[in-house]
Amino acid sequence: MHSKVEQVRSKVDGALDEALKKLARYVAVPAISSDPKHKEDVKRLGTMIRDDLTTLGFKRSRLLELDDAHPCVAAEWLKADPSKPTILIYGHFDVQPVAGENWNTPPHELVRKGDRAYGRGSADDMGGWVSHLVTLEAWLQEAGELPCNVKLLIEGEEEIGSPNLERYMDAFPDAFESDVMVLTDCENPAVDLPGLTISLRGLLEIELAIQTAECDVHSGLWGNVVPDPAILLVKLIARLVDDEGRMKIGRRPVDPKWMEGSKSIPMNDETIRSGAHLLPGVSPLESRDMTAPAWAWRQPAVTILSSTFPAPGTEKNAVRHRSSVKLSFRVAPGQTREELFDLVNKELDSGLPKGVKLEISELGGGASSWDYEPKGPAFDAADRAYVKAWGRPMVRTGIGGSIPFVALFGKRFSNLPLILNGVIDPETTAHGPNESLHLGVFQKAMIANVYLLDELSALKK
Ligand SMILES: [Zn+2]
Repeated sequence: MHSKVEQVRSKVDGALDEALKKLARYVAVPAISSDPKHKEDVKRLGTMIRDDLTTLGFKRSRLLELDDAHPCVAAEWLKADPSKPTILIYGHFDVQPVAGENWNTPPHELVRKGDRAYGRGSADDMGGWVSHLVTLEAWLQEAGELPCNVKLLIEGEEEIGSPNLERYMDAFPDAFESDVMVLTDCENPAVDLPGLTISLRGLLEIELAIQTAECDVHSGLWGNVVPDPAILLVKLIARLVDDEGRMKIGRRPVDPKWMEGSKSIPMNDETIRSGAHLLPGVSPLESRDMTAPAWAWRQPAVTILSSTFPAPGTEKNAVRHRSSVKLSFRVAPGQTREELFDLVNKELDSGLPKGVKLEISELGGGASSWDYEPKGPAFDAADRAYVKAWGRPMVRTGIGGSIPFVALFGKRFSNLPLILNGVIDPETTAHGPNESLHLGVFQKAMIANVYLLDELSALKK
């Protein structure tokens, strides 16, 4: 005689075809949140999900709506014993545009080929929350109930940076109120390696400008005699980086335990070469005393956004009178933008030729970093669930970029266990042509969800 949870698992073991059918219905709706032409599609998909959740047996299944915002779908099943915890499952149903992309299959049609299913949103993020819907349905059918209380919150504008998510949190606090949050929109480092995202880098953009004269002057007459602002700026930028071009200002110590764990992440010369489209013969930077994931996720980095160095077509033999450059910094997890700005300021604001003034200003539009320590019984429970489904616990990963919804949940609910998982893998090409979902990952995600609910239900509130 199988226990309830094993009965639900066997149901989910055989549910892949059914799950893909479900997913295909949603993928067929072009819910492109960035395109006003698809505003109605976004709402139509939200309405479809709402109705499906009602059919599934969820209560208060509804569209949350605010002015000048795409809707969110919210629903709940709160019939478990009140002593049981309430789990919030977050996902998003909007998708990135496909215009101008070269797809091998119709983008808004789920097409199964080999071990993958192709379609916009298949993995980012419809496959994420559909993996939960399938599991919830199996629990309700096989066990007649869920092992704990569950709320679903599916956002309709994650792909435009969740501009209204905080307003939704303020306007509908009970839709978010919970004991544990499972945020399913992140990546697995490989198809056999489930990821738990625990950090983000932030973003800081600054402008450097130097003016030395009233106008450009002849470089044959004045070169070597007066300061050249373009050359000075190049030298200033060079101060920020080491010999290989890596940011050396603001480097952070990396937890040795994390570093050890990151060795299992398949970010090696070969995967970096193909992932970053390096030319044959070009090697990734040496990892030295770190690992590639530590460099990518846990250290600050700098890139040049634009400059006013003389552009092609404007060549002349002159020392220019003014130059400026915009730089973008990735802020390390746990580091604030202010801290990094101060460090950069201190490094650059000295040692220039007498009288030359550097203007350094912060540009708008940055993002905070996020650094999270996954500890406590919820993460032990999650690890047990993943061992049963994937044969191993989740590997702690980070994200080198900034995802607004993650930083926002991190800010608003830092006191709750935040489990950031997902069904994306390195071959998914989220946001690009031929986005796809790996069927093995999808299947294992569904099985992990079965055990996750069961394991989390044993937590004390
Ligand atoms: Zn996403």
